[in-house]
Amino acid sequence: MNIVTKITEIAAKSNFLESGYIDVGNLKYYPEVRAICEDNMCRNYAASWACPPAIGTITECKERVSKYDKMLLFSRKYELEDSFDFEGMTDGLLDFKKRVDIFQRNLKDILSDFLLLSNEGCGRCSKCTYPTAPCRFPDLLHHSLEGYGFIVNELALEAGIHYNNGMNTVTYFGALLFKNECCSSNYGFVKRE
Ligand code: SF4
Repeated sequence: MNIVTKITEIAAKSNFLESGYIDVGNLKYYPEVRAICEDNMCRNYAASWACPPAIGTITECKERVSKYDKMLLFSRKYELEDSFDFEGMTDGLLDFKKRVDIFQRNLKDILSDFLLLSNEGCGRCSKCTYPTAPCRFPDLLHHSLEGYGFIVNELALEAGIHYNNGMNTVTYFGALLFKNECCSSNYGFVKRE
């Protein structure tokens, strides 16, 4: 079994909804997205080791990603009571982050060098140590996907997976960067619920 098949299996076992691969050379980085971070609507800007400016400039993020040659974009959908169900969105994000941790634990059996990104900030600690002390859990620090300057719906299109999964749902995304010489660009799984 090759590495891509194993990663795809591990992603499926982590109960992600869909996944798809993107060649790192096809990724686009948008300074405009970083400008949205700086507007700080999410309140994570300059408040977390997982978000800008702690993660470095867009150029530094690109250099970090460019050490790898494939991205697996993965997603999970959460049902909401309605489009104002902020509690449901928060619960969904917390669940998604836990699944990313499980995914990471299982990946360590087959990958020694990888980078995991996930939607939005960290939220692991009730109060982040940023900027006065180092991150409490650097091995579990997953930088913000948006903070790298990616447009997530563009990534979803490129990976061949859905960005929007219907009314009264929210879909969260994460990305695994890894080295591989032999996988085709959109190989992945699509699991309909
Ligand atoms: S693990 Fe804790 S200290 Fe580290 S970025 Fe997340 S909230 Fe901050």
